[in-house]
Amino acid sequence: MAASRIVIENCAIATVDAGDTEYASGYIVVADNKIESVGAGNAPDNLENVVRRIDGTGHLATPGLVNTHHHFYQWITRGLATDHNLFNWLVALYPTWARIDEQMAYSAAQGSLAMMARGGVTTAMDHHYVFPKGSGDLSGAIIRAARETGVRFTLARGSMDRSEKDGGLPPDFAVETLEGALAATEATVDAHHDASFDAMTQVAVAPCSPFSVSTELMKEGAELARRKGVRLHTHGSETVEEEQFCKELFGMGPTEYFESTGWLGEDVWMAHCVHMNDSDIAAFARTKTGVAHCPSSNARLAAGIARVPDMLAAGVPVGLGVDGTASNESGELHTELRNALLINRLGAHREAALNARQALRLGTYGGAQVLGRATQIGSLEAGKLADLVLWKLDTLAHASIADPVTALVFGAAAPVTLSLVNGKPVVEDSRLLHVDEDAIARSTREEAQRLAQIAAQA
Ligand SMILES: [Zn+2]
Repeated sequence: MAASRIVIENCAIATVDAGDTEYASGYIVVADNKIESVGAGNAPDNLENVVRRIDGTGHLATPGLVNTHHHFYQWITRGLATDHNLFNWLVALYPTWARIDEQMAYSAAQGSLAMMARGGVTTAMDHHYVFPKGSGDLSGAIIRAARETGVRFTLARGSMDRSEKDGGLPPDFAVETLEGALAATEATVDAHHDASFDAMTQVAVAPCSPFSVSTELMKEGAELARRKGVRLHTHGSETVEEEQFCKELFGMGPTEYFESTGWLGEDVWMAHCVHMNDSDIAAFARTKTGVAHCPSSNARLAAGIARVPDMLAAGVPVGLGVDGTASNESGELHTELRNALLINRLGAHREAALNARQALRLGTYGGAQVLGRATQIGSLEAGKLADLVLWKLDTLAHASIADPVTALVFGAAAPVTLSLVNGKPVVEDSRLLHVDEDAIARSTREEAQRLAQIAAQA
């Protein structure tokens, strides 16, 4: 069967390829689920089977945004413990989180996914690590919500087995056993991981953090991931308290602990990495361990500022993450593009620490790198999958800014006229095509209220 083509013309294009190629006015040809060609001026005029032709006048086309760290379930516990640091915030919220069930997880995933997709995210991820006994098939429910929204998706199957009785932070009733966590993670990989080039669903092995997971689970989780050929994800070096925790319990800092448990490597990415000294950054660079930078969450929980410019200079792969929406209520990735830029400039003489194009790269190609998908997505290049966004920049919010990349990153969140995932439209004229945003708003409110009532009775 002949490929069906979508042609986009007359838009500015930031390809985010290796040379940062941009076109002031150019075209993109999509054939089935891949980008066939990108260039300046008009599209070739002898194309066959063009099913749709889009006039992109007034728009910037970029690769779709890639989110590399999130906790979907937190969509129904937003706006709580708003003036806490990480450990106090966790202790305040664990008892509520431990009451989630399958319907809540599904509804919260719908809310998280809808918010990101309508803001230009084409690849989402969820690090889910709360699996209360008898709560149903949470992983299946989350994956179903991603499939229905239409975005590409990585489920990082999380776990916790170090509770208060073992010196950890979560309450005893909120954790799994070592054996249970490993078996359930392996079953999730077997059931849902797709290794193909155009996979819509992938699974990573993702014990939650050093302070909620046993050393055995870290080690055996890494072995499991490598045996299965999937990626590894966790939280790392988020706060000063975590650093102290690692020193007291393991006699070493977080990076040494990760190295000792098999957790540095090009198949690993870690959220936060705020408290990193020069030798930590060098270890990440040497091993190509990736980082999910989450500036809004780090600010909300007063964790500190990750040394992103130093990481990039050293060659560490860095992507962006919204983190869970209980520590970043906005839940959309434009906030992180803008905050990555601004927060990394805080301090005297840091005006050149990060620029708009670097921020856009973090949110696109950098994200694809840390998710292990840089040959498939993350830039607009012939042969890559057609995951792209057409941002409307000719309205009040941006029209007076001449440079489109500056407008997108420094300006307000731009409306999404079109987003394609795998060559298929997911958003048109700022509305989600496959799910009902208003119905999701209602159901997430109901599920948030139901969870609050159950937690209050417990
Ligand atoms: Zn997180």
